[in-house]
Amino acid sequence: MAPGAHDPQSVAMKPEAGSQSGSSPSASPQPPAGFSRADLLVTLAVLAALAAVQLPSLANSRHQANAALCLSSLDELTRAWRMYADDNEEVLVASGPGQNAPDWTGGDWTGGFPSRNCSNLICSPLWRYTRRDIRVFACPDDPFTLSPNPRQGPHLRTRSMNSYLGGSSAWFTPSSGWRLFWNYADVEAPKPADAWVLIDEREDSINDGSFVVDMTGYPNLQQTRLIDFPADFHAQGAGISFADGHAELKTWLDARTLVRTRIINTASPNNEEVRWLQERSTSRLP
Ligand SMILES: [Zn+2]
Repeated sequence: MAPGAHDPQSVAMKPEAGSQSGSSPSASPQPPAGFSRADLLVTLAVLAALAAVQLPSLANSRHQANAALCLSSLDELTRAWRMYADDNEEVLVASGPGQNAPDWTGGDWTGGFPSRNCSNLICSPLWRYTRRDIRVFACPDDPFTLSPNPRQGPHLRTRSMNSYLGGSSAWFTPSSGWRLFWNYADVEAPKPADAWVLIDEREDSINDGSFVVDMTGYPNLQQTRLIDFPADFHAQGAGISFADGHAELKTWLDARTLVRTRIINTASPNNEEVRWLQERSTSRLP
């Protein structure tokens, strides 16, 4: 088309300002109507339904990722525990305060909240064998924050050690009739693949770095007690590692293992989950 020539199509698509031709039903289609209130409500309902479908799956995938992170950090901390023994003539780091070997947490946490002092964890004798990331001491799925001031952030330590490793005289002595494992070579009954080392401990139970499993009456189930309580962060399960270096998630089903009594050392007769821990904690001296 020659420059300046009149193009009727372009006029119809772009009417001049003030022209009435665009308002005629026969000249151009009606502009789309706006959203009515009903349309908006329907849209919001659809979005809410989509969110309801998506959020649980997102939460599930986050929990799955955290479970994998929990096991890998438990694995790292347990390897550090083993490397410490390698460097110290097989002597195990102490599970609690007051032993010949240093406390694995790097300080005496008895009577206090272990998560408040980051510097103690950096002082842990295991620290130099880790990647020096403070998160190795805590389960990533721990939903709880520091009390009484949650703004201080999450717990820095959720993990405690089998009290029979390195000995924890605060609760048991060798005369109690149960094995204390002072050296890695002592871990024979149970075998390293069955002897647990570190466990996620619940927020209302954790204090010092030693997790006590009471052997009273073993193997008689009628006398089982819960001294310390395992965590339930992973769909009622806790991360737990073993002396051979492997880690797994252990799920608790007994309501007495799960209930938050805030009272440690509680009778829990016929609790099979206590026996599961007993079988993996120590064994009777000959
Ligand atoms: Zn965990």
